[in-house]
Amino acid sequence: MDKTVDEILEGKRVALIDMDGVLYDSMKYHTLAWQRMMAEQGVECDRDEFYLYEGMTGLATIDLLFRRAFGHGVTPERAKELYAVKSRYFKEIGWNEPMPGADRMLRALEARGIRRVLVTGSSQTTLLDNINRDYPGAFLPGDRVTAADVVHGKPDPEPYLKGLEIAGVSPEEAVVIENAPLGVRAGKAAGVFTFAVTTGPIPREEFVRENADIIFPSMPEFADFLERGTHN
Ligand code: CA
Repeated sequence: MDKTVDEILEGKRVALIDMDGVLYDSMKYHTLAWQRMMAEQGVECDRDEFYLYEGMTGLATIDLLFRRAFGHGVTPERAKELYAVKSRYFKEIGWNEPMPGADRMLRALEARGIRRVLVTGSSQTTLLDNINRDYPGAFLPGDRVTAADVVHGKPDPEPYLKGLEIAGVSPEEAVVIENAPLGVRAGKAAGVFTFAVTTGPIPREEFVRENADIIFPSMPEFADFLERGTHN
C-alpha cells in the first residue's frame, strides 16, 4: 500500500530544493544556450543531451564535452570563460519563468513546518537574486548552496551534504526535491529521501534507475500531494 504524505514526511524538518527545472521552467533556454556556445567551439551537441548533464557545474559540463569531442579537457580558466559566454546567451534568449506549481509546493512545505534550503549547481547571480523576487520569504538568506560553495558538483553528494550541514540536520531528517537524474543520484548518495519531479523530456525510467524514492510527473501533481495527497 502506498504511503501518505504524512507518513513520508514524518520526522522531516528540511527540504533541500534544486532550482533549474524545479523552481524555474528555465531548462529549455539553458539547453539552447549550451548548444549555441558549444557549436562555436566546434562541438555539435543535441539540445536534449544537456538534460542528462543537468545538475553538474558548468565547468564540469564543458570539460566533459571537450573530452568527448577532442580527447582532452580544458583548463579551469578557459572553462570559466566559456561558461560566461553560455551565461550571456542564456540571458539573451531566456527568461526566468517560475515553474507552475512551485509556489504551491514551497507553501505546502512551509505549512508543514519544513525549512527550505536551495541547492543548485548554478552560479548565475541574477537567477539566484530572482528567487527572492519570485518566491519571497521561501528561503532564508543563508539557506542556499550554489556552485561557488562546493568543490564537487552533483552527481557528487557534496552539495546536498552541504545543505544538511547548513540546516544542521541528519540525512534522515531531510528530503531532496530534484528534476534531474544526476541530481537524484546526488541526493541518494547523500543518504536523503529523494523526490523526483519530471519537468523535462527525460523519461521516468531514468529516475527509476537512479533510485528516486517517489517520482511525480509534474510539479502541480507534486504540490497536490504535499497539500493533501496520497501517492499512487
Ligand atoms: Ca535541476
